[in-house]
Amino acid sequence: MNFSTIVLSVIVAGTLILAGAVLDHVLIGGIVAVLWCVAMMALNLRRRTLFRSWISRPLAPPTNTLGEYYHPAQKMHAAVLARRNRTRNLVDAAQKYKNIANNLPDGLVILNDRMMIETVNRSATSLLGLTPADVGKPIATLIRHPDAQVLFKSETEHLVCDDIPSPVNSDLRLELRLFRVSDQKTMLIARDVSDTSRLLAVRQDFIANVSHELRSPLTVLIGYIESIRTDELDRTTLMDVVQRLDAPAQRMKSLVEDLLTLTRLESSPLPELSALSEIDGESLISTIVEEAQVFVTPNHRISVQASPGVPIRGVHIELHSAFLNLLTNALRYSPDGGEVTVKWYQHEGMARFSVQDEGVGIAPQHLPRITERFYRVDPASLRVTGGTGLGLAIVKHVLKRHQSSLQVNSKLGKGSTFYCDLPINHVEEEHLEHGMA
Ligand code: ADP
Repeated sequence: MNFSTIVLSVIVAGTLILAGAVLDHVLIGGIVAVLWCVAMMALNLRRRTLFRSWISRPLAPPTNTLGEYYHPAQKMHAAVLARRNRTRNLVDAAQKYKNIANNLPDGLVILNDRMMIETVNRSATSLLGLTPADVGKPIATLIRHPDAQVLFKSETEHLVCDDIPSPVNSDLRLELRLFRVSDQKTMLIARDVSDTSRLLAVRQDFIANVSHELRSPLTVLIGYIESIRTDELDRTTLMDVVQRLDAPAQRMKSLVEDLLTLTRLESSPLPELSALSEIDGESLISTIVEEAQVFVTPNHRISVQASPGVPIRGVHIELHSAFLNLLTNALRYSPDGGEVTVKWYQHEGMARFSVQDEGVGIAPQHLPRITERFYRVDPASLRVTGGTGLGLAIVKHVLKRHQSSLQVNSKLGKGSTFYCDLPINHVEEEHLEHGMA
């Protein structure tokens, strides 16, 4: 019972007794005053019981049946709600950061001052094989690569360990970075650098291959130049030597040209449909057959079977170079001659270009690799055929840019058929149909 209620009760009881005395019924006044006080006490007892039961569940809004406890209960309720909202916001923020951390493509591990794991995100599981069950374990016992061990022992603030295999998948290459966030916390970030690492290896391979390809013609050139410089040569011998310089110089020129073509094809965007011109396969084939004559020996016979009216859309210069490449390959890899058949026809709704030869053929194990740069089935054939080793790589890129791909059927010692299917250009037909309607 609070102070104001007690004062009110005393005043009411006193007034009742006084009224009784004035009316000459002091006893009745006293009894009524006592009854009133008992009723007040009972009411207060009930409100206190209600307040006690409310306080055990302060999230429910208080009702005014609590009487004098109503206002304090309301204040407590507001404070409890505010605290609950603050806690909820903190939990939400923590969950949000946890979600962000879990969705990071990089593995994230928080370590304590003794380099023991405190938290791991989802990518740490896929990249480093660390799970929440590893919390509390020393990181050095779980990632055992020697470079990583050096990283964990180092005292420096910001450290990197480059290109180590992932403990869970040796095909994955990882970069580990360690940041000392504070005296107590260290952050370990693991990034998948497999693509970069692969790209670097391809680039190194490529540079090694180009250097290797350029070295032999350069050595020949330098040899001849040395002999011109040191030997006393008469004019006829000199002219002979100068003539011999031509082949290695041409070889280097072809190599550089093919490399430039390949780079251009790889780096330029796919041609816009509007930038493509209509190509008549029949006339393209007669051009390439004419140009390939330099490779035709008396033992070769070229037969052409080109259907008229199978137009396609494409970049003329690119398709010209790809088809010519396939035809010259057919001639170069048929050293004993034989028939080379060039076809252009409609096949299952597509325009098919094919070159068939009766040459050396290719063993099945080499087929998946022949479009790789500088891949040669028989490296010794280079001396005979004089190719740059980039021809089929160029063909592959050109066809890819024309929504097509190179297909090969070959039998060792029997010959090969190289072919591709290109989308037929129906635009003309559509225009005609619209025009007629
Ligand atoms: P290259 O300049 O060496 O001819 P290509 O990229 O044109 O390079 O061809 C790659 C390899 O594929 C060749 O070295 C050769 O071994 C093989 N090849 C290509 N065309 C034929 C063919 N028509 N018959 C047999 N082998 C072929």
